[in-house]
Amino acid sequence: TMAHSKALLVLENFIGGKFVPCSSYIDSYNPSTGEVYCRVPDSGKEEVEAAVKAAKYAFPIWSSKSPLERSQILNKLADLIEHDLEAFAQAESKDQGKTITFSRTVDIPRAVYNFRFFASSILHHTTECTEMATMGCVHYTSRTPVGVAGLISPWNLPLYLLTWKIAPAIACGNTVVAKPSEMTSVTAWMMCKLLEKAGVPHGVVNVVFGTGTKAGEALVCHPDVPLISFTGSTLTAQRITEKSAPHCKRLSLELGGKNPAIIFDDADLSQCIPTTLRSSFANQGEICLCTSRIFVQKGIYNEFLKRFVAEAKKWKIGNPSDPTVDVGALISKEHLEKVRSYVKKAQAEGARVLCGEGVDSLALPTGNLKGYFMLPTVITEVKDESCCMQEEIFGPVTCVVPFDTEEEVIERANSVKYGLAATVWSSNVGRVHRVAQRLQSGLVWTNCWLVRDLNLPFGGMKASGIGREGAKDSYEFFTEVKTITIKH
Ligand code: NAD
Repeated sequence: TMAHSKALLVLENFIGGKFVPCSSYIDSYNPSTGEVYCRVPDSGKEEVEAAVKAAKYAFPIWSSKSPLERSQILNKLADLIEHDLEAFAQAESKDQGKTITFSRTVDIPRAVYNFRFFASSILHHTTECTEMATMGCVHYTSRTPVGVAGLISPWNLPLYLLTWKIAPAIACGNTVVAKPSEMTSVTAWMMCKLLEKAGVPHGVVNVVFGTGTKAGEALVCHPDVPLISFTGSTLTAQRITEKSAPHCKRLSLELGGKNPAIIFDDADLSQCIPTTLRSSFANQGEICLCTSRIFVQKGIYNEFLKRFVAEAKKWKIGNPSDPTVDVGALISKEHLEKVRSYVKKAQAEGARVLCGEGVDSLALPTGNLKGYFMLPTVITEVKDESCCMQEEIFGPVTCVVPFDTEEEVIERANSVKYGLAATVWSSNVGRVHRVAQRLQSGLVWTNCWLVRDLNLPFGGMKASGIGREGAKDSYEFFTEVKTITIKH
C-alpha cells in the first residue's frame, strides 16, 4: 500500500525449482526496529500439495544418484552459501534480531558446515551383515531413502536448524518440503536462489512459507509425506503427534529445555563464569540449549553471584548490526512481553532481580526505540517450584540458587519436565562422571558449553524430544532399513 515508505522485501515459495507467488502474505517484522520490512507467503493446503507433488516427482531421480554425486552437490551448495556468508549473516541478523557477530560466527558458518558434514558422512556409512553357516544363509541390511520428508523449523537459529535437517535428508536421497518459521523465512528463501547453481535438481528441495497452523499442519497431515522432522516447542510437538497419528508417520522431535548448570565449590570460576554468561544469554537466551537454572554450591555461592552479575551488566545491548553489540532484539513483541511477564511473576513470588529487566535502564539508539530489547536478567531467591524454575522462558533470563550436596543437586536438576542439556562444573573427574551419568539430559557438557561434534547424537529426554540427530542418527532417521536373507 501507499503507506510504506520503503519497498518491502517480498518472498515467494520455491516449488519444483521455481519461485512461485502466493495469493496472500504475512507481514514480517524487523525485531530491532519494530517495522514491517518483509512479506512472507501465507501458504496453505494448495501450496503444500504442489510442493509435495514436485518432491514426489523428483524422488526417483534424486534417490537413484550415487552418494558421491549427492555429496558433490551438497559441497557445492556449501561453497555457494559460504561465498555469500556476509549477505546471509546480515539478512539473518535483520530478520531475527540476533547480533551480526552471532550470525557471522555461529549461524551461517554452521549452515555451511551442515552441508559439508553430511556431504562427507554419507560416504562412510556401512550396513550390517551376519552369517548363519549351519543354515547356509547370510543376512544383510540395506538402507534406502524414505521418500518426501517434511521439515519444520523454529525462529531462533533459522538457517542453522533448517539446514541441519535439509542436509541429512537429501544426502540420504530423500526429497524435501521444508517450512521455516513464518517469523524468520528470509535466509531459507536466499538459499533457494543458490540451489540450481549448486546442481540440486528441480523438486529435490521445496520450501513453502507460512504459519504453523496453515502450512505446517497441511504438511504434517499430507498422506504422501511419511516422515516429519520437527524442531520447536513441546506444545507444537504434541499437536504434530496428534495430527500425524492417523498416518503413523515417523517423527523426530527436537523440543524445549530448562537446562541446569551445576557449579561445584571446586569449579574453575575463571572459565565457568564467562561460559555460564554465554550459556545463559547468547542469542538473547533464545537457544534451546541455554542455561536457565544455575545451581551453585554454598561455599562459592556469594562470590559466584557477585562476579556473575557484575559481568552480566557489561553485556552491551543495541543495534544488532553493530559488531560491538552483545545483546540484540528478541524475536517479537509478543515474545518480549511473555519473557518480561516471567520476571514480574518471580518478583510477585518474592524473588530478587539482581540486574536487567526493571532494575537497570535500557539505553537504546534512537533508531531502535521500538525494537524488542531486554537486558540480561539475573533472578535469585527463587523457589524450585516457581514457574521461572520450571517453564522454558526462552529469553535473557537466568535464575541462580544455592545447593549443599551432590545428591541434592542431582535431584533438583532432574525435577523439571524437560531433559535437553546440562552443564557440570567441577575439577573432580570422578564427580563429573557420577553427576553426568545421573542427569536426565540428552546432552551433558562438563567444564564447557555448546562444544559439538556433529557425529554424535543430539536430542532431548522427557519433554525435550523424541529421537536424536547426528551422523548415524540422522542417517537412520532418514532411511528405511530392510533385512535381506540369502540362502545358498
Ligand atoms: P514453535 O513450536 O512455535 O514453532 C516451530 C515451527 O513449527 C514453526 O515453523 C511453526 O510455524 C511450526 N508450527 C507451529 N504450529 C504448528 C502446527 N500446528 N503444525 C505444524 N507446524 C507448526 O516453536 P518456536 O517458537 O518457533 O521455537 C522455539 C521453541 O523451539 C523453543 O521451545 C525451543 O526450545 C525449541 N527449540 C528446540 C531445539 C532443539 O534442538 N531441541 C532447537 C531450537 C529451538
